[in-house]
Amino acid sequence: MDFFASLLRMTFMFFMFRIVITLISSISASRKMKDQMRKNSSDNMASSPNSSATDSSNRPAALNIEMVKDQLCGTFVAKDKAYIVRTGGQDHYFCSWECRERYADQAGS
Ligand SMILES: [Zn+2]
Repeated sequence: MDFFASLLRMTFMFFMFRIVITLISSISASRKMKDQMRKNSSDNMASSPNSSATDSSNRPAALNIEMVKDQLCGTFVAKDKAYIVRTGGQDHYFCSWECRERYADQAGS
């Protein structure tokens, strides 16, 4: 019976040891996870001002879009979206193809 009791104690000790090991490893793993979470969050915190800085640097570029006046209907259009008619070395901008055509008709007649 002494042998059986010692064997039982050994197995009990072994399982306890294993439980402690798994607990420690899980705790350290969770700590690592938390550290990574913290690192990620700090990275996000650090990267968000950068992204906003790029946004703010993009905004003036968007505001720098040159607006041109449609000579026919008087509408202001972004230059890159305007329909352009080049007559006599001068560029004429129009809000739509319709305006452009009408201007061409007027210029032709
Ligand atoms: Zn127009």
